[in-house]
Amino acid sequence: MALNLDSIGKKIGPVTKKYDWKDVVLYALGVGAGFDDLDYCYENRLKVIPSFSIGAVFEFLAEAALNSEVDLSGILHGEQDIIFHNPIPTEGTLSTEGTITHIYDKGKETGALVVAEADTNHSNGQKLFTNIFTLFCRRDGGFGGPDAPKEPVEFPGRLPDFEEECVPLPDQPLIYRLTGDIFALHVDPEFAKASGFEKPIMHGLCTHGYACRAVIKHLFPGQPERMKRFRNRFSRSLYPGTPIKTQIWKVDEGYALFRTINAQTGDVVIDRGIVEWLTAAEMEQQSRKEKIRFDDRVAIVTGAGAGLGRIYSIELARRGARVVVNDFGGNRDGAGEGSFGPADKVVEEIRAMGGEAVANYDSVATSEGGRGIVNTALEAFGRLDILINNAGILRDRSLAKMEPEDWDAVMSVHLDGAYNVSRPAFSTMRENRYGRIVVITSASGLNGNFGQTNYSAAKMALIGFMNTLKLEGEKHGIKVNALAPIAATRLTEELLPPDLSEKMKPDFVAPLVLLLCSEECRVSGRVYSAGMGYYSRVGLVTGPGTVIGDGKQIPSPELVERHINDICSLAGAVEHFDATTALGAMLQALTSKPEKAVQPVESLTVKAVFGRMPGAFQKDRASGVDVVFQYHIVGPAGGEWYVTIKGGTCEVKTGEHAQPTTTIMMSEEDFLNLINGKLKAMQAYTSGKLKIQGDIMKSQLIEKLFKF
Ligand code: NAD
Repeated sequence: MALNLDSIGKKIGPVTKKYDWKDVVLYALGVGAGFDDLDYCYENRLKVIPSFSIGAVFEFLAEAALNSEVDLSGILHGEQDIIFHNPIPTEGTLSTEGTITHIYDKGKETGALVVAEADTNHSNGQKLFTNIFTLFCRRDGGFGGPDAPKEPVEFPGRLPDFEEECVPLPDQPLIYRLTGDIFALHVDPEFAKASGFEKPIMHGLCTHGYACRAVIKHLFPGQPERMKRFRNRFSRSLYPGTPIKTQIWKVDEGYALFRTINAQTGDVVIDRGIVEWLTAAEMEQQSRKEKIRFDDRVAIVTGAGAGLGRIYSIELARRGARVVVNDFGGNRDGAGEGSFGPADKVVEEIRAMGGEAVANYDSVATSEGGRGIVNTALEAFGRLDILINNAGILRDRSLAKMEPEDWDAVMSVHLDGAYNVSRPAFSTMRENRYGRIVVITSASGLNGNFGQTNYSAAKMALIGFMNTLKLEGEKHGIKVNALAPIAATRLTEELLPPDLSEKMKPDFVAPLVLLLCSEECRVSGRVYSAGMGYYSRVGLVTGPGTVIGDGKQIPSPELVERHINDICSLAGAVEHFDATTALGAMLQALTSKPEKAVQPVESLTVKAVFGRMPGAFQKDRASGVDVVFQYHIVGPAGGEWYVTIKGGTCEVKTGEHAQPTTTIMMSEEDFLNLINGKLKAMQAYTSGKLKIQGDIMKSQLIEKLFKF
């Protein structure tokens, strides 16, 4: 079977991987770290070895191999280039997406090179690294394509500046494979012998991890986060327990060459190594650049004369923002004439520390007030970039005692207030094609709090307000988020026990609010909670639900009751970005449940899978295919089946074919996992769960030809 040259440029992924500190430590142990490298092994001061990044996207590599349709029996990991954009956090979810960028022809005798490139983003929104993988495909050369460009790496003609010798354990691959690369070649003596080796060999990527540790140790000790690039070629295999030596030449500040040799034979196992790292000057520059700044930005903070709003204003101004400090200056319950004092005092504080601010005393509760606040920003500073809808009052009563004026007063400050100020603010932000709006919500709204029906309703209404405003702002560069703070202020002084009050400095809330107000904020429509140094995200999720009936007949309440557990289950719940996606998910649930119930793939037997194979056959993808797949499925419900595909037809029979093209052997359980998508073909093959005889290339057709 020929290489699939059409795979070039097609998107692969996203492949996601969730990890935590234990995965980071396991990787470190897998590449030989120990007490001498405690920063890589101890969760209390954990740092991630940068080469963790390739282990973490191993599945992408497998997908690239499958998509290019190379002969799997001939592939080797040829080269690896990793470019680091941000330090790797010690936990989170990685999402990797990329393409095959090139397929080069090195001639029939030598093979082909498949080059794939993938970017990996972290769940914190940062792009972490770009991997460029080169697969050396020994059996796929000679297809007439271009050769790869030459990129020579010349080592200096002097002795290395640094050498790091170490001896991986004879059992090292048994640890390393737990990080995800479970290819049988590194564990199964029989498999290794059949592949031409005396015994299982080291993973090339394990030796790569040793080399990575060595260069960090000698070039920027204790600071793996400084690595910018790590590139190498895998040149020879190595048996576990063989001493290795990494030789390093520092060519320039921030640039070195390296290779790793078999210390017994002198053979180079990792060659053409290039490492680049942030120089001290770049580190200094980056630390200045990294600071979230608001120079040239103009912010409005409503209700900023006291409590949380005061802190938001001061911190924004400290980082360069010009701030409109709005405060009506009324009582805790919103009553009173209002006063200039609170806003003026905060403006004075900001000016005293060298910042820029002006006061505004309008009430957010009226539309004139809202316009007045925005006009103050435009008149004083000529623009508006940031709005924090923070002003708030309380009128707590149980519902029975809640008079209409208590209801209205709270609604008009919190909910109408957000509308009154956001509307003119949004118009000017839209003209500038940039804006950050934060609405301040509350745990009372998100969860409920006795005596606060008015306040809870207003605070929860702000989430609905944000949900739609985030959509309207999307194409204008305006991001809208919500935050539920907890802090000791005038609002909470009667509600909190004194010992807790001390811990609840409003200052703890400000950092997350500032991030949401910054250019660095990449999210919109999120709800967060913050207080006392604790920060979390709050989500509104929809469970997978269930379809009752056929969509024509209305189900009875009794029938609904019978399904109540399925209706209530939040297992596999998701967030919907907008109402259309939510409706789409509903429609999909309805259409994916055909009227005549089809047994889900998960509950099929082996026999049923073969029974269903002709129906799952993708005729339009079978043009020119002429093969017989023989299956030996081992297990109590296993057996022999063969599938003949010829002339666009698919025929399944029990028993053994005299001359199958490809023979597939698997256990019953692995086979069912493969069919229902829980086990990937590449993973099954490399782990020895899928054994293939005959034309191994043709086996790669199976995933393409059948859709269950
Ligand atoms: P705070 O009373 O210290 O500050 C609120 C400020 O808003 C006051 O200075 C007040 O004068 C001003 N204000 C009231 N009505 C106004 C109006 N109509 N126009 C302009 N300004 C007005 O209270 P805080 O705790 O700092 O509250 C800030 C925000 O955080 C509020 O929206 C509140 O609901 C919310 N919140 C606070 C907590 C908390 O633990 N403190 C918890 C959840 C939510």
